[in-house]
Amino acid sequence: MIFRGLALALSALLWVGCTMETVPATGEKRFLGYTWQEESAIGKQSSKEIAALFGLYRDPQLERYVTEVGNRVLASSHLRRPGTAEEFRNTPVTFTILDSPVINAMALPGGYVYVTRGMLAYLNNEDQLATVLAHEIGHVAARHAARQAWQQQLGQGLLLGGALIGQGVLGLPAQNLLNLGGMAAELLFLRYSRDDELEADQLSVDYSSRAGYDSRQAIRFFQTLNRIQEKEGQGMPNFLSTHPNPGDRIQRIRELTAGQPPEKSGTAASARYLNAIDGLVLGEDPRQGFVEANVFYHPALRFRFPVPRGFKLINQPAQVVMVENQKRAFLGFDGSGEKSLESAAARFLKQSGLRVIERGPMRSGQFPAFAVVADARTANGQVVRVMVYFVDYRGSIYQFVGYAAPQAFDAFRGIFLQTMQGFGEIQDARILNREPVRLALETVSRPAPFDDLLPKSLPAPFKPEEVAILNQVDLKQAIEPGRILKLPTVRR
Ligand SMILES: [Zn+2]
Repeated sequence: MIFRGLALALSALLWVGCTMETVPATGEKRFLGYTWQEESAIGKQSSKEIAALFGLYRDPQLERYVTEVGNRVLASSHLRRPGTAEEFRNTPVTFTILDSPVINAMALPGGYVYVTRGMLAYLNNEDQLATVLAHEIGHVAARHAARQAWQQQLGQGLLLGGALIGQGVLGLPAQNLLNLGGMAAELLFLRYSRDDELEADQLSVDYSSRAGYDSRQAIRFFQTLNRIQEKEGQGMPNFLSTHPNPGDRIQRIRELTAGQPPEKSGTAASARYLNAIDGLVLGEDPRQGFVEANVFYHPALRFRFPVPRGFKLINQPAQVVMVENQKRAFLGFDGSGEKSLESAAARFLKQSGLRVIERGPMRSGQFPAFAVVADARTANGQVVRVMVYFVDYRGSIYQFVGYAAPQAFDAFRGIFLQTMQGFGEIQDARILNREPVRLALETVSRPAPFDDLLPKSLPAPFKPEEVAILNQVDLKQAIEPGRILKLPTVRR
């Protein structure tokens, strides 16, 4: 988590029209919601929101590697073929790693392809990475987002969602997250139709095999996703939950790849891939903040605050949002960007549409603070009561924003204050120095069943079965010497 002023304002005010547009993946015309120019504009704007929502995983070597594999697949895609219109061929495509443990890959319209570090951990060789990136390039080339936009009238919903509460006026941090009102979020959780997914799979086989990859490796990866899904259920948004039944997709890829030469052993491509992800952070990264015993800790920024009981905490790169279970109250936290309590409070107070009820100096332990309670009218005319609390933490001004409907506010006032006044410095070295779990590579030296090769103790929360899935093997499977295993470890 890094603090930057977060502005998820919906700036691309695009109404969904209906135009006959060329689709590079087929060369045919389809009814779409956006022109290619509009798609590129939406992608550009949304890519900034994605970076703010998830954070980017900074590992220059790994970024270069993913881009290299992505470009190789891209070069054999419809977006770069000689017969394709220049409009598409001249559109740059970027490949970005998101700092999220969720297993996902996605593409924004206009050429922004993302893969999470969670996804990279579960892939086992370069061919698998190529098929995942090729699938996403397929969505871009077939213009599936624009087709969905036309079919679902996506843009109108976005406009209403973005206007719900005056984010721009009040700087209320929770709003976009709660309604997922940002265009980027809408696009991320966009459910493509079954036909669109199957088309992207077919394009994935086409692009990755033309680029010299073994596209059947997609089958192994889908089998892995299937195992994860069986273990964890449908609870989280991942590559599978927004996609058709993996069994059907595996069957389809088998059919599409039937004519190809037998599966390559792929050892070189596997070693190259595994070396690229050596040291990758696995699961949640505690350095970016974590909750333990109802306290939120941010070791990198050295602060903590209590999380109210009955609130769910969502930790994002630029803000922390706490939502009451019944969504009657919201409490957000982020950096104010101001240099003093006075300037932070002044900036808040000079906004129009505020009716200030009380204001005054406060304290969070040794740190000076300033609080304002006010009623504010939102863009759609609704009134909310807000408590804004600025705290001066060694020269950095952080802000809490708690709000609820005026009639519900008194019930939450004390709860908000407990968190705000409970803000303090982390002293405990065990919290400050907490390291994430990372992938470490180990070459097998003797033939043995997989579970015999695991270390005696695995870092929490990893269990042997999960490590087997991570390596795309069964627990009792015989492993040959020379094979490289991915093991979760904590650096000391
Ligand atoms: Zn897809």
